[in-house]
Amino acid sequence: MAFDDSVPLPRLLLRMAEFFRDESCGQCVPCRVGTVRQEEALHRIVERTGADAAGDIALLREVGRAMRDASICGLGQTAWNAVESAIDRLGAYE
Ligand code: SF4
Repeated sequence: MAFDDSVPLPRLLLRMAEFFRDESCGQCVPCRVGTVRQEEALHRIVERTGADAAGDIALLREVGRAMRDASICGLGQTAWNAVESAIDRLGAYE
């Protein structure tokens, strides 16, 4: 997919997080809980536009590492990739 700069990145990431939360089968804890926590954090970030999101970004990193390292299958292992990339490479939420 390609997007221009008119696409609101935080809302796009929230939609992706909703997808991963929906698709998690719930078999393993890192993915079952992590995808929910990821979506919750992104919701908070989107809703308080302009406020400091540092705490939620730290939470997203911690949850993302747990999902990547401990999930059983590729869905959980990659559920945080787009958010991580947006934070590290595109400066989302700054
Ligand atoms: S990582 Fe895979 S097995 Fe584990 S809950 Fe997610 S979808 Fe299910």
